[in-house]
Amino acid sequence: MLEVRNLNVWYGAAQALFDVSLQVAAGELVVLQGLNGAGKSTLLQAIMGMSPRTTGTISYQNKSIERWEPHRRALIGLGYVAEDRRLFTGLTVRENLHLAARGDVSAREAQVLRLFPALASMLDRPSSRMSGGEQQMLAIARTLMTGPKLLLLDEPCEGIAPMLVVAIRDTLLALKRDGMPMLVAEQNHILAAHADRVITLAAGRLGATVSP
Ligand code: ATP
Repeated sequence: MLEVRNLNVWYGAAQALFDVSLQVAAGELVVLQGLNGAGKSTLLQAIMGMSPRTTGTISYQNKSIERWEPHRRALIGLGYVAEDRRLFTGLTVRENLHLAARGDVSAREAQVLRLFPALASMLDRPSSRMSGGEQQMLAIARTLMTGPKLLLLDEPCEGIAPMLVVAIRDTLLALKRDGMPMLVAEQNHILAAHADRVITLAAGRLGATVSP
């Protein structure tokens, strides 16, 4: 489904990823681990088309997408949730969801509220007045409003109150059970135990792959 081959990424003269190759097959949960600065965010951003300079190939559903703009990658089904969530904090929960929506807005909203029922009671709240965990739910829900076919999630359970970590983990696992493939960068081993494969990155290079 997604295949990355020999990906190199540079920030100016500094190389951040070295010859990274990986695949995410239909329905798979692949977890990417590594210390701060290992290159996890860089890898997800490069897959999404947000990196300044790259070489290598990225194919998705048998199309070579490595030269495509990010919005085009989103249109064919890549859904990305950044570590910093990138919400429109001046807008309400509902407005954040609706701005992102593609297709039947009401049907999608009903679907994401089933997945994240906690959001249903705060639709009129500005997203600036939500906790970190609630904002994370909204960030994932907003990406789901685009109807993605593969999710790229950067530290979805980081810095969040334990109860909401459990809620977010369980929702992501429910999505996986429904067949949603995911590539998740995480340091905190929340999803790794449930992954089909765990890949480690160290200083921009892939290390061992483990099947838990
Ligand atoms: P973290 O969990 O801390 O975000 P990470 O594994 O996601 O770590 P990256 O953020 O991808 O790591 O960083 C990989 C390397 O690229 C680091 O050396 C980092 O300093 C560098 N880097 C990341 N973003 C930029 C940028 N915009 N400009 C220059 N260097 C960057």
